[in-house]
Amino acid sequence: RNQFVAIVGRPNVGKSTLFNRLSQKSKAIVIDVPGATRDRNYADCSWYGRRYTLIDTGGFEPASTETLLIQMREQTHLAIEEADLVIFLMDGRDGLTPADMEISRLLREAGKTVFYAVNKVDGPRHEGFLPEFYRLGVPRIYDISAQHGLGIDELMDDLAEYL
Ligand code: GDP
Ligand code: MG
Repeated sequence: RNQFVAIVGRPNVGKSTLFNRLSQKSKAIVIDVPGATRDRNYADCSWYGRRYTLIDTGGFEPASTETLLIQMREQTHLAIEEADLVIFLMDGRDGLTPADMEISRLLREAGKTVFYAVNKVDGPRHEGFLPEFYRLGVPRIYDISAQHGLGIDELMDDLAEYL
């Protein structure tokens, strides 16, 4: 079985943008994964010949902070069950939020291999977004722009070591 890689994070941080970019060249969309629901997309992908199945954990737009947290917990637990590796995506423009800190804690408790990435770092003038995310206490945080395709190589090269 391919390794499963889940992209987890709050709504609007850019999960689907990253999913689309990584799955662009791979045509086979997996639709018959047992337990697949309509708010999860699967794609068979590869990175320099290493195959993996990418999962976009979607979800509705939550109505309140409370629903956001409930949805995030659920999504994180599903990812923990299903995925071998997790890309935890945050939004550089929003900064580090309480929801991010909680997801990070859940992932850590589960002992998952997690790649922490801060999205929407579209250029050098946005690099100032990064330092506050190191409050999560993780050694490496990848700054990326899913939209503009920046920083993706560093992230995926390191992730591919686990595939
Ligand atoms: P999701 O809810 O986490 O799946 O987020 P989406 O992929 O739907 O993206 C939410 C919004 O953020 C969209 O308007 C995207 O165009 C925008 N977005 C995604 N990635 C980037 C990025 O790297 N830079 C900027 N500036 N915007 C981005
Ligand atoms: Mg999405």
